[in-house]
Amino acid sequence: MITRFAPSPTGPLHLGHAYSAIVAHDMARAAGGTFLLRIEDIDRSRARAEWEAQIYEDLAWLGLHWETPVMRQSERMPAYQDALDTLSAAGLTFPCTCTRRDIAEALNAPQEGAMGPDGPIYPGTCKTVERHEISDAAIRLNITAEAIAKTDEISFTELLSKETVPTIMSTDLAGCIGDIVLARRDMGTSYHLSVVIDDAAQGVTHVVRGEDLFDSTIIHVVLQRLLGLPTPLYAHHRLIRDAAGKRLAKRDDARAISKYRAEGATPDDIRRMVGL
Ligand code: GLU
Ligand code: ZN
Repeated sequence: MITRFAPSPTGPLHLGHAYSAIVAHDMARAAGGTFLLRIEDIDRSRARAEWEAQIYEDLAWLGLHWETPVMRQSERMPAYQDALDTLSAAGLTFPCTCTRRDIAEALNAPQEGAMGPDGPIYPGTCKTVERHEISDAAIRLNITAEAIAKTDEISFTELLSKETVPTIMSTDLAGCIGDIVLARRDMGTSYHLSVVIDDAAQGVTHVVRGEDLFDSTIIHVVLQRLLGLPTPLYAHHRLIRDAAGKRLAKRDDARAISKYRAEGATPDDIRRMVGL
């Protein structure tokens, strides 16, 4: 068994991150498996070296052990580009110059506006336009039924969440997911593409992460099929919430692990606080 914790170094780790890391770590350890860490720093405008350093410090303090070297997504651009090239060569991508506002306006037309896991289903504006040599464009997945004809039913195995696992026929993918963004114009990749490629590259067998990512998983399975990558098992855990029942976010510095540490909490206190 190989599990991983994949934080973005864009703020302090809080109790929700601690819970996620501990669940993934303990699951691997209980099975005599391996726990990996991956730094998801593709958003260079938000990632900071200080936050990355703090991640290592907090996780070590919690008593977690991970394999080194740690994978950092900012060093993986060639792998993401290879995957984009493969999909492009198969005619499965197209450049898109739409802004959020263009998309919203296009969807204001009657009979449109379905929601997918990634927001409103893309209306297809740029799909039919012949464009050459645009450097400032996002790359979208051209999700035609033929593209995924080799994969009739798209689904996955869920080990923790009580949410209903979707099964989507390949012919329904265009309506359910749409032409998702594979590479953002400022990044050269996207969360979905990177996470799929790296989970496969690291041999992750059990993806342990929060339930907030449950709906994204079907997108990941589609990308795994298109790229010929294995689909791991998924374990989407409950989210840690504050007293008002709101899930914790990066800006909830009040619940930063470093703050509890500074106040004298022990790693066992943290485990208790997240119900472990
Ligand atoms: N980097 C993502 C986050 O910090 C997690 C990605 C994943 O576990 O798939 O929310
Ligand atoms: Zn577009």
